[in-house]
Amino acid sequence: MGTANRNPEPGRGEKVMPGLWRLRLPLPWQLVPHGNAFAVADRDGLLLVDTGIHSKTSIRELERALDQCGLSLDMVHRIVCTHAHADHAGQAAAIVERTGAELLMSPNLAHMTGYIADPDGLLNSRLDRALLCGVPDELVERQRGLRAGLDTGFAAVPKPDRDLVEGLKLPSDLGELTVYETPGHAPSHVVLHQPEKRLLFSGDHLLGRVSLYYDVGYTPDPAGEFLDSLAKVAKLDARLCLAGHGKPVSAIPELISANRAAVDGRLGAIRAALADGPRTAWELTGMLYEGMPEEPRIGWFLPETLAYLQHLQVLGEATPDGGSPVETWATTPDQDVAPAAA
Ligand SMILES: [Zn+2]
Repeated sequence: MGTANRNPEPGRGEKVMPGLWRLRLPLPWQLVPHGNAFAVADRDGLLLVDTGIHSKTSIRELERALDQCGLSLDMVHRIVCTHAHADHAGQAAAIVERTGAELLMSPNLAHMTGYIADPDGLLNSRLDRALLCGVPDELVERQRGLRAGLDTGFAAVPKPDRDLVEGLKLPSDLGELTVYETPGHAPSHVVLHQPEKRLLFSGDHLLGRVSLYYDVGYTPDPAGEFLDSLAKVAKLDARLCLAGHGKPVSAIPELISANRAAVDGRLGAIRAALADGPRTAWELTGMLYEGMPEEPRIGWFLPETLAYLQHLQVLGEATPDGGSPVETWATTPDQDVAPAAA
């Protein structure tokens, strides 16, 4: 995601249905060139779902998108962030400062607060982890040089006024929005569901195409959490998915199945590779994402591979050898023993 998007499209707003607008905001990343915030009308003005990333021009982009919908930033009295990644919550503190809006976020914010407090510290610990996973020194050092000192995308540390927790209901002109905790993509992830209109504000939990990412290092099994969150969201039986990136999409059961199939496919590929012998996480990443450029492979796909290895460890199927400086993963020995005949 770090590769710069040099010509971002300006912010754009469009009505989705009465009382609901999509605000498409530019992002500085080539692979993810824009993200969505949503404005929802309610009795007191506007509820904003997600904020976009913070930059020198980001408030102006948000205002431009709102203006195209006949809305204004001053109408925003409440902000809900689906999760604490910069492209969803980066502008929260700036909007709160400007409007005095109430801010609601998940209480599981350690992955964000640690990052904002010491971005290079987090970068270094991720690159140390990359070394442990078997990424060659020269690639790690190149990443350190490229990524050190980059802007966090947060205006300041967002300070929620209220916790977004499972079952919380928020009034809106669309009907009540109910919060469901959906960790996996990030520990702080929630979705909002409107049951009568069957709407799902899905953040990055569910996107119009399968694009898996996990914040690794905060919970024991992010991939397992993601699968549990998919099962939870499947039960909601929503009809229109308002995702954090891309257009609203309606094929929610198909999207959930496609996400499950992608996870199952990668777990299966790792199981098969480990059956042939021990591997490092970096070797497995190379196998799963052959031909991917170096930067997303280290920053995005290596953590994804690690999340699957951790999931297999929780399932009792794979074990790290605890090796240093490079750790190797192997099939857990008991798995090799044929089950006794019944
Ligand atoms: Zn995200």
